[in-house]
Amino acid sequence: MYDVVVVGAGPSGCMAAKYAAKSGASTLIIEKNANVGVPVHCAGLVSGRTLVESELRDTGSFMSNELKGAIIHFPNHDMHIEARADKRAYAIRRDLFDRALAREALKSGAELITNSRVIDMVAGTVDGSVKGMKIRVSEGNEVKEIGAKVVIGADGVRSAVADMAGLKFRKYMLSCVQVEGRHEAGDCAEIFVRRGIAPGFFAWIIPLGDGNARFGLCIDKRYSVSGSTSMHYFKKFMHMIKGYNRGSYPEGPYIKYSGGEIPITATSLRPPKTVRVMKDTGVILVGDAAAQVKPITGGGVYYGMKCGKIAGEIAAIAASNDDMHALYDYERRWRKEIWMEIAFGVWIHRLRCVLRDDEFDMIFRVLERGRTRIEREGDMDYPSRVLRELITRREILMLGTKGLIRYIYCRGLDIKEG
Ligand SMILES: Cc1cc2nc3c(=O)[nH]c(=O)nc-3n(C[C@H](O)[C@H](O)[C@H](O)COP(=O)(O)OP(=O)(O)OC[C@H]3O[C@@H](n4cnc5c(N)ncnc54)[C@H](O)[C@@H]3O)c2cc1C
Repeated sequence: MYDVVVVGAGPSGCMAAKYAAKSGASTLIIEKNANVGVPVHCAGLVSGRTLVESELRDTGSFMSNELKGAIIHFPNHDMHIEARADKRAYAIRRDLFDRALAREALKSGAELITNSRVIDMVAGTVDGSVKGMKIRVSEGNEVKEIGAKVVIGADGVRSAVADMAGLKFRKYMLSCVQVEGRHEAGDCAEIFVRRGIAPGFFAWIIPLGDGNARFGLCIDKRYSVSGSTSMHYFKKFMHMIKGYNRGSYPEGPYIKYSGGEIPITATSLRPPKTVRVMKDTGVILVGDAAAQVKPITGGGVYYGMKCGKIAGEIAAIAASNDDMHALYDYERRWRKEIWMEIAFGVWIHRLRCVLRDDEFDMIFRVLERGRTRIEREGDMDYPSRVLRELITRREILMLGTKGLIRYIYCRGLDIKEG
């Protein structure tokens, strides 16, 4: 019987396991895939703060490129943002990053089993006498049982642990497609905002510094025309950048092809419930499983690790004191850290789902006026800090009101694509 069992060896799970083990809890990570970090479902764009949060010293082992800024392509304008040296973003290799995090968790005393999928769990008697959570794990053709006092569900966007623990909450899934391919120029990330390219989100090019780049997009399918898929938009996007990209269009064969989903909580009024306390055991959710993702950018690595640390520490305390009510402290703490940022992002997400291309161009004009401020104070982990002030400008407030009325009343109507 373990004090803490962490389901999922992504960044959130590895960090939770590291902190649980460091706090003295016997800790096991269960990962369904054969190798930690693959397959990759990520563009790998992270802030410097994320690297610090990871506590990994040898960042060179997973670093692909340092990006000097971003170009945001609005429907009819381009906005160039130069990042200050201390505010740069980095393109990383998520497979190597996740593996490095897992190694650190093991060094702290956690154990890891791979090729093992959690298929069921039930509170009850474990090992004949001790009370806790009985977790059924499938390993190939075998099913074995593992006991835990506390279970941390870090099993990603379609969390089985959340379902089994009855921790369901309403969320929308953004659907994403990405390839890696040849791309000659640039040390800036490029973002494409336009309904016809990526309704409800954006498309990206992230140069990797070795003549290749990641090309991808996400959509909120509720706002795609006639229910078109992310692949439909992706093909259109690749066709568009063929002309735009001065011939450095990735003709293929693509080096890596991936997809995935990003969870966005459906409401900004109430944070998701992420703790379930039973008599002798408890479950907490972390990372994508808890939709701890920035709705504006879809980034979840930083929040996942940050909340993973809290989850690990609190789970260890609850297990060592046999006091499952201590788990509620996790919920209080993560909400205090990031919920306001997520709630703000949910409003922005709603707005971008219903904006027309001319309205995106108006946003460009407002942002362009605040560009110096964005360059000086912009923060990809806490975008609301700068955006909040820009948003109080009169034009944006009016646009926001119009947009939200449209969001409430016109959902399901096709909004004209540019
Ligand atoms: C296309 C795309 C691009 C993205 N780009 C970025 C980006 O540039 N920057 C950024 O910060 N974020 C990005 N994200 C989001 C980011 O990938 C996630 O927020 C992050 O991976 C969440 O980490 P996690 O540990 O919570 O979950 P995951 O990384 O999803 O890890 C969950 C783990 O649980 C395992 N698992 C699942 N079910 C079970 C089970 N039943 N039993 C055992 N193991 C199980 C999985 O195999 C997986 O290893 C992107 C997402 C997508 C889809």
